Amino acid sequence: MNRRDFFATTALGGAASVLAPTAGFAFPSAVLNAIPPARMKLSFKPFTLELKHPFGVSVNTRSTTPIVLTTIEYGKFKGYGEASMPPYLGESQESVMKFLAKVDLSKVENPLELETILSAVDAIEPGNTAAKASVDIALHDLMGKIMGQPLYNVWGFNKAKTPNTVFTIGIDTPEMVRKKVQEVDPQFKLLKIKLGRDNDREIIEAVRSVSDKPLVTDANQGWNNKERALETIHFLKEKGAVLIEQPMPKEMVDENAWITERSPIPVMADEAIKRLPDLIKMKGVYHGVNLKLMKTTGLREAHKMIILARAFGMKLMIGCMTETSCGITAAAHLTPMVDWADLDGALLSKNDAFKGLTFVDGKITLPNAPGIGAVPR
Ligand code: MG
Repeated sequence: MNRRDFFATTALGGAASVLAPTAGFAFPSAVLNAIPPARMKLSFKPFTLELKHPFGVSVNTRSTTPIVLTTIEYGKFKGYGEASMPPYLGESQESVMKFLAKVDLSKVENPLELETILSAVDAIEPGNTAAKASVDIALHDLMGKIMGQPLYNVWGFNKAKTPNTVFTIGIDTPEMVRKKVQEVDPQFKLLKIKLGRDNDREIIEAVRSVSDKPLVTDANQGWNNKERALETIHFLKEKGAVLIEQPMPKEMVDENAWITERSPIPVMADEAIKRLPDLIKMKGVYHGVNLKLMKTTGLREAHKMIILARAFGMKLMIGCMTETSCGITAAAHLTPMVDWADLDGALLSKNDAFKGLTFVDGKITLPNAPGIGAVPR
């Protein structure tokens, strides 16, 4: 019996016929055959995202975030993407646009061949993770639009399984922290509190004086003594913290692992794990990882990291930079696969250039439109 006969005479044959294309569902090749061949075109422009409140983390405070907005066109289809560059991460509008000028998509024949295209983009130069993410996001948006399906459907995720987002309270005076928490407390189920300067306990007490919501806490590498860090984590657990992000500098691998071994709540890597190889290097050092598209080079690699992290038994969070609703909505399509989401980045801004995901009582609600579903305002 040859292979073909085997499939025809077994139960698998039945399964195969169930999976065969039908009139109601267009497979990519059929979709592509139905649209006239076109030349892919990448364009990009700088944009400054203005923040509602100056945003403080352990290393700095700022009131704007430089962004580069990208568009990839293929015939009548248009995919949108973005790069967000908080200054401490080393990329700038200038470096992103310089990188994007080297991306030539004009010879791509199949716009759905994301593995091939994105591997080639990644190989142009090392680093430039936000610049690469801006191509990745626009390509995923374009793919969904060509296929006529929202991204969560392309991946096979259940959109009802999106988690609540946390809302982030940046570092500030205890009085301002109290005021900010009061402002947002009714709308969100979890709050994220930035720590790592010298007034952590005071900040937490200020939060607790006005809210009893569970807390996601983030030291942003701000602690430098492992025993004291662990003591603070026990205090945080007593005060209702559900996790702690990046307690100590990423270079202090043994110290972070020491804390993870003893911590009463999950210890999540953020700065320590950017891309897939970091996940392998840092295996066992943290309980989990906070993935952000601007670190992972976009959705493609973030998706692979989710699968690998799960295989390692790790917890997962999807986070963001301060971004427009384009990048945030893109990341939101991955959230049915993770434990926590920190996707408030667009809510912190005054001039969001896109309309996309919404929050219903803090729960991430994905748009139904094809692709990412983020529309320019
Ligand atoms: Mg963090």
